[in-house]
Amino acid sequence: MSRTLIHSQSHSQVATERPVFVSTWNFGKPANEASLRKYQGGGSILDAVEEGIRLTEADKSNASVGDGGKPNAEGKVQLDACIMHGPGTKAGSVGGIEDIAHPISVARAVMEKTPHVMLVGQGAKKFALEQGFASENLLTAKQRKEWRAWRREKRKMEAGENNHDTIALVGIAADGTLAGGCSTSGLAYKMPGRVGDSPIIGSGLYVDNEIGAAGATGVGENVMRFCGSFMVVEYMRQGLSPEEACAETIRRIARLDGRPIEDLHINFIALNKKGQFGAAGTGNGFPYAVTYPGFSDILQS
Ligand code: ASP
Repeated sequence: MSRTLIHSQSHSQVATERPVFVSTWNFGKPANEASLRKYQGGGSILDAVEEGIRLTEADKSNASVGDGGKPNAEGKVQLDACIMHGPGTKAGSVGGIEDIAHPISVARAVMEKTPHVMLVGQGAKKFALEQGFASENLLTAKQRKEWRAWRREKRKMEAGENNHDTIALVGIAADGTLAGGCSTSGLAYKMPGRVGDSPIIGSGLYVDNEIGAAGATGVGENVMRFCGSFMVVEYMRQGLSPEEACAETIRRIARLDGRPIEDLHINFIALNKKGQFGAAGTGNGFPYAVTYPGFSDILQS
């Protein structure tokens, strides 16, 4: 195992103003900015997180989240999402939901309107329809064409670098309240029914209102066996900076997994209660977005 392959910043960055939003990948920047607008328009930190993720879910050109996401091996788009609100450690989640464009909002409805944390498959869809969400075909012509080509060639799903991505977005309000969400179509051409880390509380996302929040993207199987986001938050509790907490989580996962670190394809973002943020990944620089009043940019871990 080589430590040098973990990409993380060597210093801790801190936002000078609040709220602060931190999210995965380049597409996190417009999502963060939508979150900031929502918050500045009077929304809560939870409303803001949901709004940012909804923007990514609605973008049909984004093939890894929401509408326009890559389908499973049978050509069906199955979406995973979860949301957490710091006060009271509230959580809601949906796994493998079909035909619903905004799983993050269904996850929020699970959190706020049911006594449960997670609904999956047909039950999640039934609940969404009862809540007034529309049933829509989420498979775009482009993704159908690519899926057909994949099927013709009878390629095996490769859990590699380029067939997935996720929006994980975490935020802290002016009063220190934390919230976060995570949404994905998961690994492209996954086995029907496969659920990844993204909707699993503690794996794809974790929010602890005393300490901070963390989110994950990458090969979910290499995150969910380790409660990855929970581990990041626990390292922050022990005093590590967000960057170091993400990097230490990756080191520990790699050690336990045993494979070369570059084969894991995992990335984490983190934000602590002081407004410090950071990220780390196993690839060659992981882009993540940071936004607060007067600042919005894409940084590289
Ligand atoms: N973590 C997601 C999953 O495994 C995919 C990704 O973030 O790239 O479903």
